[in-house]
Amino acid sequence: MTSPAAGPSPADRAKILLVDDSPDNLVSLEAALDGLQQDVIVAQSGQEALRCLLQDDFAAILLDVKMPEMDGFQTAELIRSRKRSRHTPILFLTGYKNEEHLFRGYDLGAVDFLFKPIVPEILRSKVSVFVELSRNAALLRHQTEILSKAERKFRALLEAAPDAMVIVDAEGRIALVNSQTERMFGYQREELLNQPVEILVPDRLRGRRKGGVEFPVEIALSPIETEEGVLVTHAIRDVTERERANDRIRELNTELERRVLARTQELSESNEALRRSNEDLNQFAFAASHDLQEPLRMVALYSEMLQQKYTNRLDEKADQFISFIINGALRMEMLLKDLLAFSQVGAVNEGPPAPVNTAAVVEKVLLNLGAAVVENRAVVTCDELPTVEAHEIRLVQLFQNLVGNAIKYRSADPPEIHISAKRQDEEWHFAVRDNGIGIHPDYVQQVFGIFKRLHGHAYPGTGIGLSICQRIVEGYGGRIWVESTLGQGSTFFFTLPVRVVRPVQRPTARETGVPAILKS
Ligand code: ADP
Repeated sequence: MTSPAAGPSPADRAKILLVDDSPDNLVSLEAALDGLQQDVIVAQSGQEALRCLLQDDFAAILLDVKMPEMDGFQTAELIRSRKRSRHTPILFLTGYKNEEHLFRGYDLGAVDFLFKPIVPEILRSKVSVFVELSRNAALLRHQTEILSKAERKFRALLEAAPDAMVIVDAEGRIALVNSQTERMFGYQREELLNQPVEILVPDRLRGRRKGGVEFPVEIALSPIETEEGVLVTHAIRDVTERERANDRIRELNTELERRVLARTQELSESNEALRRSNEDLNQFAFAASHDLQEPLRMVALYSEMLQQKYTNRLDEKADQFISFIINGALRMEMLLKDLLAFSQVGAVNEGPPAPVNTAAVVEKVLLNLGAAVVENRAVVTCDELPTVEAHEIRLVQLFQNLVGNAIKYRSADPPEIHISAKRQDEEWHFAVRDNGIGIHPDYVQQVFGIFKRLHGHAYPGTGIGLSICQRIVEGYGGRIWVESTLGQGSTFFFTLPVRVVRPVQRPTARETGVPAILKS
C-alpha cells in the first residue's frame, strides 16, 4: 500500500512533458517539478516532443521557444494540429518579453508564458493548476462515461419491456417513449414528445390510437426521482385480447349456469316424481299386504274347514287340490307379512334415533332365534360391540335377518357365526360372518333385491329379508354388501354412522291414507 507521503499512485499520476534543447535546463526544470510528484517526461527537440505526444496524453507541455531546427512555436503549431493533443495546455518558456512574441504564442494556443530565469515556485504552482485541471477532466470523462452507460442501459431496458413505456414529466407531458409505444398507438416518437399523456390514455382504462380508435388498457404507474424533478413511468398494456377472453369466459359461465340450473330443475322434478312414486309404491305395498290379509285369511280358513270336513269324501285329486290351496294361502300370508314389514321400515312414528347397545340387540336376537340356534347347534360368537344411534326395533330386525340367514343357509356342522365391529373414522363397520353354503359370485349383488332368492324352494323364505336390511341401513345413511365364497361361507358387512344426522323417514300409508284406487 502506498503511504500518503509517497504521493499519488502511478496510475493516478499526471504526465508533464518538458521540451528544451538544453540538457541543463531540462535537469533544473525536472528538479523544480519534482515536488509535484507527477511523471515528468523530457524531450530535447520539437520532433522528440511530437513523438512523445503520439504515445501519451499530457496534463501540460512546457515548451522552450528557442530551439534549433524546430522552434517552440512551430512545435506548438504541430501539437495543435493533432487531434489527440489539440487541447493540451502549453506553457512557453522564453527569455523575451516582447508583445509580438506573446501574441504569436497565444495565437498558437499557449495558455501561459514563463520567463527565464524560471522561478521554481512559480513553475510548480502554475503546473500544479494544470495537473489539477487534467485530473478533473479525467474524472469528468469517467463520470460522463458511467452516466452514458447507465443511460444506454436504461434505454435498452425501456425497449426490452413488453409494454408501451411512456415517461411523463411533472407537468404531465411526455418526455420519453419506447418503440412499443409507437407500434401500439401508431404515432412517431417525435409526434409524442412534449405532448400531454392524455393523447395516449384519456383515462386509466382506455388507450387511444392515432386516428381516435380506443382500446382497453391496463396502466402501471411508478415514479422516478431525477434531477429535473419526479418523472412518472406509465407501463401501458393493451388488454383487448384478455378482455375478449374474459367476456368469452363470462358468456360460457352464464351458459353453464343456465344449463346447470335447467339440469338441477329437471333432476329435482324427477326426484320429486321418484319420491312420489316411491311413496305410492309404499302405500301400495302397505295396502296390498295389510288389506289383503283378511280375504286371504278367509281363503285359508275355509280351505282348512273344507279339508277337515270333506277329506276322504271327495276323490283323491280334490284332496290334493285343497292342500295346494292351503299351502298357497299360507305362503301368501308369509309374503304379505314380510311385505308389510318392508313397507314400514323408516316410518316417521318411530321417533328420532337414540343410543342403542348393539351387544344387547344381538342377545335379544339370539333369544328370538333360540329354537333355531339350539336345533342346529349353532355357535354364535361376538367381539365387543358398540352403542350406536338408531332404533332398537330396526337393529333387532337387521341382526335377526342376518343371523337367521346364516343359520338357515348353513353347510358345516356346527354352523359357526361370528359378529364383529370396528370403527373407521365416523362410521362403525359391522360384519356377520358364517361358514355356510356361500353365494355364487355372479349373484352377490342381487341378494338385496326384493323377492330375490338364490336357493329356491329348498329353503323357506320370501326373499324380502335382505331388502329390509338394506332399507334399514340406508335409512341411517349406511351401506350394506356381502363378500362370499361358494361352499365356504359369506360375510355380510354393513356400516352405521357414529352419529346419525337424521334418518330418512317416510310417512306410513296409514298416515297418508291409502290411495282410493286400492280401496275400491
Ligand atoms: P330369504 O332368506 O327369505 O330367501 P333374504 O332376502 O334374506 O330372503 O335373502 C335373499 C337370498 O340371499 C336368499 O334366498 C339366499 O339365496 C341368499 N342368502 C342370504 N343370506 C345368505 C347366507 N348367509 N348364505 C348364503 N346365501 C344367503
